[in-house]
Amino acid sequence: MGRPDIAIVGGGPSGFFVAEALFKAGIGATVTMFDRLPTPYGLVRSGVAPDHQHIKQVTKVFAAVAANPDFRFVGNAEVGRDVTLEEIRRQFDAVVLSYGASRGRPLQVPGASLPQSYTATEFVGWYNGHPDFAALDPRLDTEAAIVVGHGNVAIDVARMLLCDHARRAKSDMADHALAAFRKSAIRRVHLVGRRGPLEASFTTAELRELLSLPDVRVVIDPRHLDLTADERAFLDLPANAALQRNVAAMSDAASRVQNSATKELHLHFLASPVALDGQDSVSAAQFCSNRLDGPVHDRRAVALDERFSLPTGLVIASIGFSGSPLDGVPFDSGRGIIPNRAGRVEGTECGALYVAGWLKRGATGIIGTNRADAAETVRTLLSDFSDGNWAAKSGKAGDESFSIAGATDFAAWRRIDEIECLAGIQSGQPRRKLVSVAALLEAATGRQPGAAAAEAAPSR
Ligand code: NAP
Repeated sequence: MGRPDIAIVGGGPSGFFVAEALFKAGIGATVTMFDRLPTPYGLVRSGVAPDHQHIKQVTKVFAAVAANPDFRFVGNAEVGRDVTLEEIRRQFDAVVLSYGASRGRPLQVPGASLPQSYTATEFVGWYNGHPDFAALDPRLDTEAAIVVGHGNVAIDVARMLLCDHARRAKSDMADHALAAFRKSAIRRVHLVGRRGPLEASFTTAELRELLSLPDVRVVIDPRHLDLTADERAFLDLPANAALQRNVAAMSDAASRVQNSATKELHLHFLASPVALDGQDSVSAAQFCSNRLDGPVHDRRAVALDERFSLPTGLVIASIGFSGSPLDGVPFDSGRGIIPNRAGRVEGTECGALYVAGWLKRGATGIIGTNRADAAETVRTLLSDFSDGNWAAKSGKAGDESFSIAGATDFAAWRRIDEIECLAGIQSGQPRRKLVSVAALLEAATGRQPGAAAAEAAPSR
């Protein structure tokens, strides 16, 4: 019996929502959250667009969860590198895996590994200051960029490429990306989807925001918006009101006269990349045209013989994300998730190993979607332990204590946060991100990053 000790692996939105649900359940649980970075908040820090600060307000909810005296953050501690899952399982009654879907799906076409061809994970991570991608150094000295995919991440990327620099400059975009964007030559963005306007997975607010960027002319081949009677009837269904608003937004934008605009957004439909060309780096992308096959509510793209090519010096694939496997845990590599039943990892009948968030269901939904998802996982976990027999069921040994060298706690994060936010006040930004693990760890001690080096440097 006694208090359950629960570990959460991954300190992003779903991890925090799991912690919140556990505390709300009133079972007296202690929650220890591991993250491989010194910082918490996962995708809210390094995935959400830097100009969408309103979405980042959710960190206030997470900070309130972290303020619970039974919550412990262990940052800079990668499970599988600094501590094994087995070690964690021996120490805790249950472990919830919520480390997300951090791998961007790459294009599977010849030339996809050329320089200047990136996944959205890489490019977004770069401009958001994720330590893994801070050194990516993409060149923005090309007139035309191509973003493949018709989802909200593709919209974020296209908006970052086309918006006024003033918008970026007051965001929390990383310094290195701001410097690169300041000199950007990109004037044209091609946003290319393999299916039609009815299949694009944009949400209306995000689509409207992109289509109304100042100084950007929207170009859409009117044939794509000339719907058939079947398509119109489908759009008229009450369940498809959002889709109808999307199509209306595209039609409005396409018919707007914007002769003086200096930048262009081309929305392409029914096109799939078949190759990227270039010698030392990408210089063009080749596409095949597609037709749609199947009933109007469930159509798939079928390649035609038609080909076309778009010159470009930058290609970003925004075609979804996959989770990563963890040693000893089943993994569905096709879907990029850990197979589970309502959050209980398959093959662990008695429980003790759970999953939540994108790693559980795939990369779908907005941040708030993870709250209901986490609640489901916690319900499953609680039903497995409804007799309160935690240690007996989980096999927790609880007799070894481990400490992880160099780990950060939540107080360390607050020091990092303060240093970043203070730096942001001077530049009129919400924060200026530290983008290397070394700088984050230095700030975690309360020292200004670089202070140690400056002190050690010989005085002149
Ligand atoms: P998404 O909405 O699933 O979009 C992925 C896109 O990639 C789809 O257009 C898909 O086309 C396309 N695609 C997949 N495989 C492809 C291939 N082999 N070739 C060409 N195209 C391919 O995913 P996402 O944009 O990565 O976003 C992930 C989740 O985060 C979504 O739920 C999104 O709404 C959410 N999000 C929300 C916000 C926000 O609320 N502001 C911002 C960013 C992300 P098909 O439809 O044909 O498969």
